Amino acid sequence: MVRRDVLERFDRKIEAMGVRIKDADQMKVREDVFDEVTLIALYRLVHRKLISAVGGAISTGKEGNVFYGEQDGRGIAIKIYRIQTANFKAMTEYLAGDRRFASVRGSRKEIVFAWTRKEYSNLTRAYEAGLPVPEPLGFDRNILLMEFLGEDEVPCPQLRLVDLGDPAAAYRQILDHIKTLYRQARLVHADLSEYNILYCEKPYIIDMGQAVTRDHPRAFAFLLRDVKNVNRFFSRYCDVLDEQEIMKEIVGTSRREP
Ligand code: ATP
Ligand code: MN
Repeated sequence: MVRRDVLERFDRKIEAMGVRIKDADQMKVREDVFDEVTLIALYRLVHRKLISAVGGAISTGKEGNVFYGEQDGRGIAIKIYRIQTANFKAMTEYLAGDRRFASVRGSRKEIVFAWTRKEYSNLTRAYEAGLPVPEPLGFDRNILLMEFLGEDEVPCPQLRLVDLGDPAAAYRQILDHIKTLYRQARLVHADLSEYNILYCEKPYIIDMGQAVTRDHPRAFAFLLRDVKNVNRFFSRYCDVLDEQEIMKEIVGTSRREP
């Protein structure tokens, strides 16, 4: 996306500010995912002292890329939403139904920036409700900073890759988190699955960009889909509860409210 010489110039600039660029061999990944907007946002976060080191890529997906980083020696995850290849149409729909972001209009760039703010806001609500989510640490344009879940630069594995000692306990914890998210944070995750739950001794919920407030017209449908995903995954490992019963427990009714 960005020319190598631009990236090298940028690296020199931020290294001059005392920021370490780890994994220089990752230059190729960075060339592919960084555009000028992203470099400016990164530069601003470095300037605000929210980033003190930039490491290698943890994940390179189609919507975004996650890099390891540091803030004063503490591990952070740097999530960068792609502007050019973002699923702009889907993002617009999720934003429109959410009161907090219903007035967002504009270019692809504006939508992606709003999406980043939305993930930050969702993480904050979940974190304040006491849920196990990465602590939100800041954002700028298309970049979100959060606590790194993992140790020694190795991220916690996704739930789908973990050999669960007590799957029934993990299942109960996750259902409980869905309920707290709905009742206390007043949000529906809307993309909950074994991919968006990391596991380090206990489950952590991640990837909250698409999470919506309870008044979103599709909130109930999203919640039911989340519950079905969790049931589908855990039914391979333990007994699962009836989805209608779960919905009743979370929402107080098993039917969509009028
Ligand atoms: P994709 O386009 O790949 O679907 P995504 O939008 O789903 O990207 P996330 O699910 O938030 O992005 O993150 C992708 C991966 O990056 C996660 O599965 C996890 O491995 C890693 N990751 C994300 N956030 C963190 C974090 N806070 N700590 C450690 N690892 C993380
Ligand atoms: Mn994800």
